[in-house]
Amino acid sequence: MPINMQEFLCKELVYKMRLKDHVIVTEIVFGNGYDDVHIWLDELYKPRSGFLHWQHRHHIKAIKEKYGYGTTKYSVAIFHVLCDWFSHCNLHHVPRDENEVISFLKEENLI
Ligand SMILES: [Zn+2]
Repeated sequence: MPINMQEFLCKELVYKMRLKDHVIVTEIVFGNGYDDVHIWLDELYKPRSGFLHWQHRHHIKAIKEKYGYGTTKYSVAIFHVLCDWFSHCNLHHVPRDENEVISFLKEENLI
């Protein structure tokens, strides 16, 4: 049964995204789940630290250093960060660096 992507995104992205959700959405958009990219982005998560782990890798500077600008994995990582901001805050953010992540998290009362 074909998936209506817009309907899927509207229904699914309003909830907090977990690894499997990132992989499913990425497979729809990129034709591959790129599990390794999602694991790298979220592997510094610690229970009870909430969104603080976003400061390490959920920004352009870290993603560019890891994958290089313009590569497919760079795009997948940016897409992951967009999905996180949208699913948690209904915002369309890709922070430039760690300081911007912290500023946005404070503005959204997430830390
Ligand atoms: Zn994430």
